[in-house]
Amino acid sequence: MSKRIVITGGAAGIGRAIAERFLQDENRVAICDADPSAVAAFQTLYPQAIAKVADVTSEAGMETFFNDVETAWQGVDIVCANAGIGGPAGGIETLQYDDWQRCIATNVHGSFLTCRWAAKLMKEQGSGAIVLTSSTAGIMGYPLRSPYAAAKWAVVGMTKTLAMELGPHGIRVNAVCPGAVEGPRMDRIVANEAAARGVTEGEIRASYVTGVSMKTWVTAQDVANTVHFLASQAGNKISGQVLSIDGNTETLAP
Ligand code: NAD
Repeated sequence: MSKRIVITGGAAGIGRAIAERFLQDENRVAICDADPSAVAAFQTLYPQAIAKVADVTSEAGMETFFNDVETAWQGVDIVCANAGIGGPAGGIETLQYDDWQRCIATNVHGSFLTCRWAAKLMKEQGSGAIVLTSSTAGIMGYPLRSPYAAAKWAVVGMTKTLAMELGPHGIRVNAVCPGAVEGPRMDRIVANEAAARGVTEGEIRASYVTGVSMKTWVTAQDVANTVHFLASQAGNKISGQVLSIDGNTETLAP
């Protein structure tokens, strides 16, 4: 049966791959994203989807977005709190407070506002599945990326807690922890880390694979397939879990 899926940060990267995976099965998909041109491109490609410009850190913006979704669908089955940013790279004493705040706001405050709306709509119907996007940095230390690690550990804490709060209402809450996903976002992060460490981008790239048992990067489709499974009937008793899609990261230390 067709499901109603909301994805934040859904116009690009992993969020878009999740949207495309659900659209394959004729589900109803709504995305929001802070990037207007990415939203316009997504809407052109997928006119059947709801695509809105909304910033997950804006309480008013998320209210408008979820009200639009509720008006269109009278409920929601799956919510992916996916929007996030990598934040700055550098030793703690070199980081700017503004960059720390932006990283925490997008990854943590955005997940909070998204899950609050998901809980409200799902409780009314007594069912639903929430999938938050954490990271391998949400279960391990990550040298020179303390804002990102702190933010993604917070996402895991939110997942575990909301699974307990919402489970009695028939709502499942899980998190996915992607490893390094091939694509433009990791290209930017590799460039930042190379500058922060004073080494080449090639060395940073190699270090991402060195710490992974399967010696591999991940694709956005790998993550989308896992989210699809977690949200599907096949995962109907899975809640409170934090699932890595990363070829088994042994360490994030360079
Ligand atoms: P991406 O930059 O390719 O795409 C993220 C999308 O989110 C973009 O379209 C962007 O415009 C949007 N976005 C950013 N800030 C937003 C905001 N405040 N409100 C609404 N939309 C916003 O990144 P991605 O790799 O697809 O990352 C998606 C999620 O996966 C993030 O939470 C990220 O931390 C997490 N993650 C990514 C990787 C990786 O290697 N790419 C690894 C682990 C976890």
